[in-house]
Amino acid sequence: MGAGLAGFAAAVRAAEQGLSVLVFEKLTDAQHICNSRLTGGIFHVALHGLVDPPALIAERIRNATGGTAEPALVDAVSEDALRLVRWLQLQGIRFMKSGREPWQDFTLAPPALPQFGRQWKGRAGDVMLLTLEARLGKHDGRVLRGHRATRLAMQDGRCTGLEGEAAGGTSFSVDAGAVVVADGGFQASHSLLCEHITPQPAHLKQRNAQTGMGDALSMARAVGACSIGIGHFYGHLLSRTSLDNDALWPFPWADDLARSSIVVGSDGHRIADEGIGGVYLANQIAKLPDPASTFVIFDDATWNGPGRLRAMSANPYMTDAGGKLYSASTLSELAAISGLPQHALAAEVESYNAAIAANDLARLWPPRSEPKSAAWPIRTGPFHALPIVPGITYTMGGIRIDGDSRVLDTNGSPIAGLYAAGAATGGLEGGPRSGYVGGLIKAGVTGLRASEHIAGKHVAGGHINQSINTTGDTHGRSRQATV
Ligand SMILES: Cc1cc2nc3c(=O)[nH]c(=O)nc-3n(C[C@H](O)[C@H](O)[C@H](O)COP(=O)(O)OP(=O)(O)OC[C@H]3O[C@@H](n4cnc5c(N)ncnc54)[C@H](O)[C@@H]3O)c2cc1C
Repeated sequence: MGAGLAGFAAAVRAAEQGLSVLVFEKLTDAQHICNSRLTGGIFHVALHGLVDPPALIAERIRNATGGTAEPALVDAVSEDALRLVRWLQLQGIRFMKSGREPWQDFTLAPPALPQFGRQWKGRAGDVMLLTLEARLGKHDGRVLRGHRATRLAMQDGRCTGLEGEAAGGTSFSVDAGAVVVADGGFQASHSLLCEHITPQPAHLKQRNAQTGMGDALSMARAVGACSIGIGHFYGHLLSRTSLDNDALWPFPWADDLARSSIVVGSDGHRIADEGIGGVYLANQIAKLPDPASTFVIFDDATWNGPGRLRAMSANPYMTDAGGKLYSASTLSELAAISGLPQHALAAEVESYNAAIAANDLARLWPPRSEPKSAAWPIRTGPFHALPIVPGITYTMGGIRIDGDSRVLDTNGSPIAGLYAAGAATGGLEGGPRSGYVGGLIKAGVTGLRASEHIAGKHVAGGHINQSINTTGDTHGRSRQATV
């Protein structure tokens, strides 16, 4: 279920091992826009490279997630990250270096980065998905578009297929030896966001394809699956103007500016440890009563320093694309034009500057850790206030799985015949710092592992029975396949 990287990795790997495969995709377009199609395309693990020894990669995942990552998933990703890329290369997918850092060594070609707006046609994720779909076809696997899965079929505690709605108002059901759910997460579901992530979903910018509605999570929970790490998401700090202006996502971010200065709420006070970085800040801001109420405050030296760090940096791309930036020669003027309380802002800036001068950022409240890039003082005008919102890319939490991508129930036991992959799953990313491990690596590795477990278990035993029945279809088509 789901034709993103996770679904295709599972499907192609299953098919090349001789299994009969059908992929159900709810969207109808041949080049349907999912997160795997919009992706930046960098295969990394926690912003590090893939060629290091698995023990080192595992250590990095534990560090990024504050030790909260499930050990079985840490092992799966650290052992299989490079194998995934090699397997994708064997399918015909090309990679290139997109920068000097080791984490940029495996970037999908032709690159999606650095591009303004969402330019995906003929690039990175688009080429990857087209290539994988063609490979699936060579193995006689099929993608059924316009088929939205809504329910898992169960018999004697085992998942025996799925059911759903097809385009045109028909319904369908399929019997299968195994089901892999890979719907891409729940970031686009306002009700699930409200339950787990933010009191005001409309004040998060959807920095994604808006296809992940949490169907997999709901379906799996309905048959007894456990969820894990559900309160965190991967995302970045975007201009608040992006809520009304689509030119301002997925880039540029305000992460580098925020990490180098201070983020204040509408009361003029800092709200979180900026030194941890943009993904953490996005999560903290999302939890505020109004996530569209914060500003990054900095002076002109920061705007022309960290503000220009990246290829698609905030300076000048954010303002060029229409993003709001308040600028004034004094802090009190800045407070007046941005609507921030003058005294609170002045006091916050003063204690921040004093902590930098004393080389003691930890004395601030909230405490401020040493950032990768230094904290820059806010001293010399013009001063700037950048209104921001969290941009949500995908949810980090989801269905709990083991190292073979088997869905676990609330007792920690696998639900027979049911697997989950990609952003539908939880347990790898998150933790106290909302640690990011990597959406592509997670999708690919969990997809491969699901099918390898299915094949090992069922092909050896010699039976997968699969049938699909389409009801309400005027032609009354049905198809039977047995492996
Ligand atoms: C702008 C952007 C940049 C990114 N850059 C990077 C990067 O550089 N590196 C990185 O590691 N990660 C990156 N990511 C994240 C990464 O691309 C995703 O985490 C990953 O591709 C998710 O794959 P997936 O298969 O789990 O989900 P998806 O690609 O979202 O696929 C899920 C599919 O399931 C379908 N579906 C949903 N519900 C149903 C249903 N009920 N029935 C049938 N089908 C259904 C959807 O339509 C969709 O096609 C980026 C994401 C975005 C949006």
